[in-house]
Amino acid sequence: MILQGDEMAVRSVSELVEQGFEGIEDEISICTDCQLHKTVTNRVIGKGSRSPKIVFVGEAPGKNEDETGIPFCGRAGKNLDGMVAYMGLSEDDYAVINTIKCRPPNNRNPLKSEINACKPFLQAQIELLNPKVIILLGNTAEKAFCNGEKLEWGVPRIVHEKYTLLKIYHPAALIYQRSRIEEQNALIDNNRHLWE
Ligand code: URA
Repeated sequence: MILQGDEMAVRSVSELVEQGFEGIEDEISICTDCQLHKTVTNRVIGKGSRSPKIVFVGEAPGKNEDETGIPFCGRAGKNLDGMVAYMGLSEDDYAVINTIKCRPPNNRNPLKSEINACKPFLQAQIELLNPKVIILLGNTAEKAFCNGEKLEWGVPRIVHEKYTLLKIYHPAALIYQRSRIEEQNALIDNNRHLWE
């Protein structure tokens, strides 16, 4: 459980962690470990606090993010902002990163090989950010963290007493299914004790 199954990873997580945030950013900016580097405009590293209580993990950059290099800066980002406000978080409380750092063409789902290639960056970011709670925004983030195991939506899972994983809906899933917003709010309400 948790970020295992990375036998295909080509980078050492501990070396990345040693390099710190700036070093990781440099490595991501020149990475050619999967085919997505051929089509990317801007690699999307992350945003927010460097000592957060919560890290939100999305899927992959979309068109807006590819253009700007900023995660969740489009419509899904508006919904994420709404979730953050509903959770009562301040800017210092959270960071936002993605499972993979380069946009897949036409926003297709990331391939397993792409998730694996990017996983050392994800692991290193999590180690440096050292949050209490990791919020997995949907199934792609879950794939990276749970090695094929499925979490229940909104049911927290403590991992090695290091942090708690919580899977909730991806903000993009709330765009076309407005009824999901109430469901999402209920999942959040059930878990407020994790960050309050
Ligand atoms: N969806 C994601 O998963 N991440 C982004 O950064 C934007 C949309």
